[in-house]
Amino acid sequence: MKFETFFRRELASLRNEGRYRVFADLERKAGQFPRAMFHGPSGPREVTVWCSNDYLGMGQHPTVLEAMHEALDTCGAGAGGTRNIAGTNHYHVMIEKELAALHNKEAALLFNSGYMSNWAAISTIASKLPECVILSDALNHASMIEGMRHSRAKKVVFEHNNPNDLRRHLRALDPKVPKFVLFESVYSMDGDVAPVREIVEAAEDYGALTYIDEVHSVGLYGPGGAGIAARDGMSDRIDIIEGTLGKAIGVLGGYIAGSAAMCDFVRSFASGFIFSTALPPAIAAGALASIRHLRNSDAERIGHQERVAQVRAALDEAGIPHMPNPSHIVPVMVGDAALCKKLSDDLIERFDIYVQPINYPTVPRGTERLRITPTPLHSDEDIRKLVEALSSIWSMVGLKRAA
Ligand code: PLP
Repeated sequence: MKFETFFRRELASLRNEGRYRVFADLERKAGQFPRAMFHGPSGPREVTVWCSNDYLGMGQHPTVLEAMHEALDTCGAGAGGTRNIAGTNHYHVMIEKELAALHNKEAALLFNSGYMSNWAAISTIASKLPECVILSDALNHASMIEGMRHSRAKKVVFEHNNPNDLRRHLRALDPKVPKFVLFESVYSMDGDVAPVREIVEAAEDYGALTYIDEVHSVGLYGPGGAGIAARDGMSDRIDIIEGTLGKAIGVLGGYIAGSAAMCDFVRSFASGFIFSTALPPAIAAGALASIRHLRNSDAERIGHQERVAQVRAALDEAGIPHMPNPSHIVPVMVGDAALCKKLSDDLIERFDIYVQPINYPTVPRGTERLRITPTPLHSDEDIRKLVEALSSIWSMVGLKRAA
């Protein structure tokens, strides 16, 4: 086989469809978020980032940076191994305690990313529970799907955010088999929020184990940023809460929180936990400082919601169509892969604004979009410039305005 020809042909087909991914070469500037240097074809220049998952700008918060500097100076660079082999650092222990307290759970277990925590925890639990059947929301994240696949457990997909469909599937299963219900709180592409109570009640009625991915809500919603389940008073009724330290917390890492036995079980059996070098202590220290800050300060969350509302109102006024939802994610709908890429290119080339195009397979074909994520650090002027730029491009390419 001509391997190079194969690779090139596959890439060419992505390009033809307009969904070849180009990563913007950005250099973040500490203390100036959402500004970054863009290293483009015509040399470096400053742009405003409108699509970061550093939702609150905590990745550059002085308290977080100070904690990271201090840990770097005291502990050095790497963790020194897997957690098993010399890699457990005091910062890992402290952050696990903090995460357990945040979610009001007995314990927490730290992973190197949210992807790893989903993959490792789901695959371990579902493969070890004898005859386990997974019930998965239709729009669950790729990392959860990989975990399910790796477990080789039987999987049933229920309609997105539909507790009645979940009940229908639960009812059809043998009452004796262990059931494992997996869903998210805030869905990252449409920004819609799960009916947590109704899903958990359905699961409880059939004695199912419950798992919620709170990656897009930790730090942002609920008391002290404990997430949507906590906001809805449901954390205590969910068995496993999973989250990331890489989005609103602003650093890197993932975790699960739940009972001491469940965390110890995953710690003891999950290959994705056991056989991977632990997070550097400075990373854990930064995330710990960020969580502690957000548990004690609502200012970032209030500013965030206020900016989100302002962006939506400005888009409405300009007739730029965006998907309504109750969260902080503002999907501006384009509906065509090549056009979506062109809009993103125009925004950075002509207006110094960076918003990446979101195409298939991240979203279904025909629903391509620009996913805008306002932060408390975007100014009135930033919002005005964003909406003016979008409006000008909308007219230029002849896209339909919202009524
Ligand atoms: N879960 C969801 C719903 C996500 O959107 C993502 C990443 O975007 C992850 C998990 C993975 O988290 P991380 O980026 O920390 O690997």
